[in-house]
Amino acid sequence: MNSDLVELIKLSDIDKSIDSFLPKIEAANKKLHIAQNKLSRVAERMEETKRLIEQNETKVGEYERQLEMLGGQLQDITKKSKNVTTDKEVKALGLEEDIAKEKMTFANEEIGRLQEISNIKATELQELQNEYDSEKQSVDAIANDVEQVHATIENQKVELYSSREESVMSIKPNILQFYEKIRMWARNSAIVPIRKQACYGCFLKINDKTYAEVIKSQEIITCPHCGRILYIEPQMDDE
Ligand SMILES: [Zn+2]
Repeated sequence: MNSDLVELIKLSDIDKSIDSFLPKIEAANKKLHIAQNKLSRVAERMEETKRLIEQNETKVGEYERQLEMLGGQLQDITKKSKNVTTDKEVKALGLEEDIAKEKMTFANEEIGRLQEISNIKATELQELQNEYDSEKQSVDAIANDVEQVHATIENQKVELYSSREESVMSIKPNILQFYEKIRMWARNSAIVPIRKQACYGCFLKINDKTYAEVIKSQEIITCPHCGRILYIEPQMDDE
């Protein structure tokens, strides 16, 4: 095979490897991002549950203060009842007492109801905490993987860029320029094999004359349809 072509194929392989890094990095970052989102959603639900418990506790506190006040009121009523003389006064105090007792019953019921909700929320919070802990573990593991992917890729990049530099040096400038020009639009299919006498870039059939020229491989031949550089794969050389 034409030595320029051999070098170009080598360079094209290096370029393909370099270009494959970005999707790998993106895939790793995406996975981390999804896991982090999941974790922050669990954290948000925990905050919401804590807020609810706090609100409940505040309400319970209010009812407890009310109970204290009502207790005082009842004591006052008892004291007053010793000094009342008329039926009207007795009745009025009795009514006052009933109202205070009714309010106490209501406050006690509310405290019970709120505490029951708080207990349920506390169980939920514990479950969320467990979920959070296990999500956090998986985020940490993924972050670790991502870091390793980045490190591996950085190492490979350094190697590949130095191989690329070497490869570029061994290619004639005009041929390199020609390749770079095709690569601008064809990206990683700037150089393609011929399979079943068709260009593997545009998949159109190659005429016999061009096909024969590519097989001879004395110079760089491009596809007459799309302009990509063509070559015959080694295993086909043997046939
Ligand atoms: Zn083509």
